[in-house]
Amino acid sequence: MFEINRMYSHDHVKELLHEVGEVLTHTVYSEERNFLSPPLDMTELRQIFHDARSSLRLGKVGEAFKHIVAGSVDTHHPRFLSQQLAAPAPLGAIADMVVSALNQGHAVFDMSPVNSLIEEDVLDWARRKLLLSDEVFGVVTSGGSLSNLSALLAARNYLDGWSGWRNGLSKSRVVIVASRGGHYSISKAAGILGIGTHNLLQVDVDECGRIELDSFREVMRCVAAEEMLPIVCLTVATTGTGSVDPLAACVQITRESAPRAWIHVDAAHGGFLAMADRFHGEFEALSGCDSITWDAHKMLFQSIPLSFLFFQDREKADFMSQHDSPYLTQRHDGEFLDKARWSLECSRRSNAVKLWCTLNYYGENYFTTAFKEILDRTADIYKYLKSRPCYLVLGEPDSNIIAFRYVTKCSEEERVNQLILKKMRDDGSFLIGFTKINDKLYLRLTVMNPRTRPGDIPALFAAIEAAALTYKPK
Ligand SMILES: *Cc1c(COP(=O)(O)O)cnc(C)c1O
Repeated sequence: MFEINRMYSHDHVKELLHEVGEVLTHTVYSEERNFLSPPLDMTELRQIFHDARSSLRLGKVGEAFKHIVAGSVDTHHPRFLSQQLAAPAPLGAIADMVVSALNQGHAVFDMSPVNSLIEEDVLDWARRKLLLSDEVFGVVTSGGSLSNLSALLAARNYLDGWSGWRNGLSKSRVVIVASRGGHYSISKAAGILGIGTHNLLQVDVDECGRIELDSFREVMRCVAAEEMLPIVCLTVATTGTGSVDPLAACVQITRESAPRAWIHVDAAHGGFLAMADRFHGEFEALSGCDSITWDAHKMLFQSIPLSFLFFQDREKADFMSQHDSPYLTQRHDGEFLDKARWSLECSRRSNAVKLWCTLNYYGENYFTTAFKEILDRTADIYKYLKSRPCYLVLGEPDSNIIAFRYVTKCSEEERVNQLILKKMRDDGSFLIGFTKINDKLYLRLTVMNPRTRPGDIPALFAAIEAAALTYKPK
C-alpha cells in the first residue's frame, strides 16, 4: 500500500526541503558559475532528462534536481544577455514555493484571505510607481500577453457596447492601431477576440524603433474618416529594440481624431523606467490612457508569472466581462476583493506574494540600485558600439534592450551575423539574442542582471569580434 500519510509528513517534507536547499545553494546560488546553457544537442539533452527521471524513481531527489539544473539555462549568470528573463530575487523565488504549498485560490476572497490583502497592497504600490491616480483599478494576471488580451477584450466591449460579446462579431467596426514594433500578443489578441488580424492597422516606426508620428496621424485620419472604432496600442520598451513610443504626442493625436478611442499602453517591459526617473513626460501621459500592462516577471525581477493590468477606473475595468456568479464579486468592508469578475482566469495563484516579500524584505532600494547598474551597463554597451566602425546600432537605447548589427564591406553581412550568433552559442561564454528589423538579422542584448560587470562588456565584444573573424567568404 502507498503511504499517503507518510508522503505529507513533517519528516518527509523536511528531508525534501533539505535536499532541494543543498542543490540550490550549490548550483543556482553558488559563487562559482561556469556554464550558461546546457548543450542543445538532443542526444545529450535526452540523457540529462533520463538521468533526472531515473534519480526520482530511485528516490534521489537531490540528484534529480542537479540534473534538472544541468539541463537548464542559467538566468542568474551575469553574462546571460539573451532574453527578458530575470534572475529572480531569492526571497521572491522562495515565497513562490510557499505560495504553491499554501495553494490559495484567488477567485474569491474567502479562499485567499491575507493573500488578497497582499495583492491589493502590491497593486497599490505598482500603481503609485507608474504615477497613476487613486481612481485607477488594478488586477493581477499571469503575464503580459494575458494582460494585453484582457485589456483589449475590455476595449472591444466598451467600443461596441457589448455587441460582440452577445451577438458575435459579424459587423464589428473595431480595429486595433499598433506599431510594427508592438508585441505579437497584440496581433494574437486581435485573432482571439474576433477583431481579426486584418483589422490590425500597423504604424511605421522611426530609425529608433518608436512610432513615427506622421504615419500615426495618417492611420488615425483614415480610422476617423471610415468611422472605425479604434483601440490604440502604444508600447513602453518594445521587445525587439527596447524603444519607447512618444506617448504624450500619440495620446493627443488620438483624442483629437477619435475622442472615444481606447488607448492601451503595453509597458510590460518598460514600466520600470518610471522608477528609474526616465521618460517622465511620457509616464505623465498615462493618465490619459485607458489601460496599462506592466510585467513584474521582467524588470521587477520576479519568477514567471506576475503581471499587472491597470484600468483608468473601475467602470472601464467592468467592461472586461459580464460573467457574474452568485458566489463571486462580493464586497468586503467596502472593498472588492473577489477579483474573478475582472479576470480571464478563475483559479488563480497568489502571484503577488513574491513581489510583496521582495519589496518589504529587501526594500525599494534593491530596485533603484539594480536599475542604475543595468542602465549604466546598457550605456557602456552603446558607447562601445558607437566607438567601433564595424557596428551599426539604432539610436541611443531608450531602455535596457539594444539591437545592433555587425557590418562588413562584403555582401555577406547577413551570414556573418548568423555566424556570430551560432559561434556565441557554441562557445558558451555569453548568451546573446537576436531580432529581425526590415528582414535583417540584428544581434540583441537584454541587460537584466544587475551583476553584469563593466568588465563583461569588452569581453563580450572581444568574443563577438573573434566570432566574426572566423567567417570565410565563399
Ligand atoms: C514580454 C512582453 C510581452 C508579453 O508578456 P508575457 O509576460 O511574456 O506574456 C508583451 N509586451 C511586451 C512589450 C513585452 O516585452
